[in-house]
Amino acid sequence: MNLVGSITLKGIAASPGIAIGRAYLLDRRRVAPPKRHITPHEVEAEVARFNEAVRESERQLREVKLKLGAAGTEHIQILEAHELMLHDPMLVDGARQMVRDQLINAEWALKKTTKSVRELFSHIQDEYFRERRADVDYVADRVLRNLMGTSQTAVTEIGPGSVLIAHDLSPSDTALLQQTPVLGLALDVGGMTSHTAIVARNHKLPAVIGLEHVSDVIGSGDIVIVDGSAGLVLVNPALEDLQRYQQQAMRYSVGRAALDAHAQEPATTLDGVHVRVAGNIELHDETGFVLDSGAEGIGLYRTEFLYMNRDALPDEEEQYRHYREVVERCGPLGATLRTLDIGGDKLVSHVKLPKEANPAMGLRALRLCLRESSLFRPQLRALLRASVHGELRIMVPFVSGLAEVRAVKRLLAECHAELLAEGVALPRLPALGIMVELPSAAAIADILAREVDFFAIGTNDLIQYALAIDRANEHVGYLYHPLHPALLRMLQFILRSGAEAGIRVSMCGEMAGDPFYTAILLGLGLREFSMNAVSVPVVKQVIRSLDVSACEALLAEAMALPDASDIEHLVSERLGPMLGTRISREVFDPMSHRP
Ligand code: PEP
Ligand code: MG
Repeated sequence: MNLVGSITLKGIAASPGIAIGRAYLLDRRRVAPPKRHITPHEVEAEVARFNEAVRESERQLREVKLKLGAAGTEHIQILEAHELMLHDPMLVDGARQMVRDQLINAEWALKKTTKSVRELFSHIQDEYFRERRADVDYVADRVLRNLMGTSQTAVTEIGPGSVLIAHDLSPSDTALLQQTPVLGLALDVGGMTSHTAIVARNHKLPAVIGLEHVSDVIGSGDIVIVDGSAGLVLVNPALEDLQRYQQQAMRYSVGRAALDAHAQEPATTLDGVHVRVAGNIELHDETGFVLDSGAEGIGLYRTEFLYMNRDALPDEEEQYRHYREVVERCGPLGATLRTLDIGGDKLVSHVKLPKEANPAMGLRALRLCLRESSLFRPQLRALLRASVHGELRIMVPFVSGLAEVRAVKRLLAECHAELLAEGVALPRLPALGIMVELPSAAAIADILAREVDFFAIGTNDLIQYALAIDRANEHVGYLYHPLHPALLRMLQFILRSGAEAGIRVSMCGEMAGDPFYTAILLGLGLREFSMNAVSVPVVKQVIRSLDVSACEALLAEAMALPDASDIEHLVSERLGPMLGTRISREVFDPMSHRP
């Protein structure tokens, strides 16, 4: 549906800033093929129509490859595999034959052959071939859309000046976002801590998500304003709204420029407490960008993104090169590299996971790594080898108890000994830390603190599991309350346990990057934050505007309140006067968080 009139939609403010441009609708949902029997004299016309759709698909793939150029070598390999599949006799000749033999239309025939090719692939023992099923689907979908006259677009095909509108983005689409010239993003699904939201913030891409029906009401070519700070999307806005937003966008960029000018200055509170503000990255080549935004080192490198958008797993050597580059670029500031965190909402097509009813609570992250040592060992070896080149810290995600930590330590010691025996000079074992992101780990933080070198609090998952709210589900987004008393108590216990054991405790979940929570976190005793690039200058400025003793007093008041909304109300009232005029309201306005 394409609405001509203007309309305003409200969603979740996922990444700040304002984008104004033409909508580009990316529809990833599967198309339902029409099914029709044909007469014998329609056969040749139907086959010709099918051949034309295959040729058109080839042409589209070639065009995408050209557009990607040298920048997308890994993605190009995937496209070449897809091109080959367009000549696959089983898939393409098979569909033609079926039109002839069964007298059915081309869409139906293609659907049937795709199904049998997929089934065949799933019976092949070789993992590589089994995993080609996703490619078969992708190629068949493209041909099907060409047959039906609807086009399937890759994220990288989108032209400049566009605002991307979609129902959802796959993790692989999301990882390719940085290669596109899109100005902003609006999605039907997603929550504040879904990975699309995280990546949008990291790329300073204004985004509103969880809009539920945005992909139904916006058509390609509509004029769209994405207000990522207020969580609003305006479709075909009235002239006065457009002008108002153009001015607001200008004021926002002036406010940002003023902040960015101080990004490299340290974050020291008014009463002289230095706070470390590090950055989160998904890919090794984001390191420079994050450090330029003022981050003091990397507090979280989500290494699983290296496994996406490619045909085969990265081997030890490739991992080593990526990790080494990050560590060398960070120098004495150091980098914390997290081991593979796949499963749940982060899927990697060629890592085979069992079909599970509840993948968020299934065989994922560390659980998967401990079970599949062929996956884990190369990564641990690559990390150990890279640690020779700088301040590398190893962090494991999704720890639920002590046994898992001890298993990692054993494996790490084995890999260390193995490398030494191979003649690799490894003077010392790097620091080993854990993500505290499951309620069970939070509850035994005192026990775990004696076992590891540092903690990093992952509030995205901690909130998801403590409050039982799927982080990517827009229907329960209203329950996302980092200031829930249950959370505050957990955070207090984790920080106290870390302090008593004398280990470093940082926070790298999205809560750390939201300036609304900075005062409370300082009050709790947090002195190490890690966040997306866009938040670094803002949070640093907020820290420079605060007094730790005032934050401690605010926390004491907050801890005495019974409900999240009472605490949010308290913080939004107090934060304005605490910050004074030290930060532009265009960039951060505590009142906009009022419940
Ligand atoms: C978290 O859970 O808070 C976290 C930082 O990790 P991720 O968002 O990658 O799950
Ligand atoms: Mg997590």
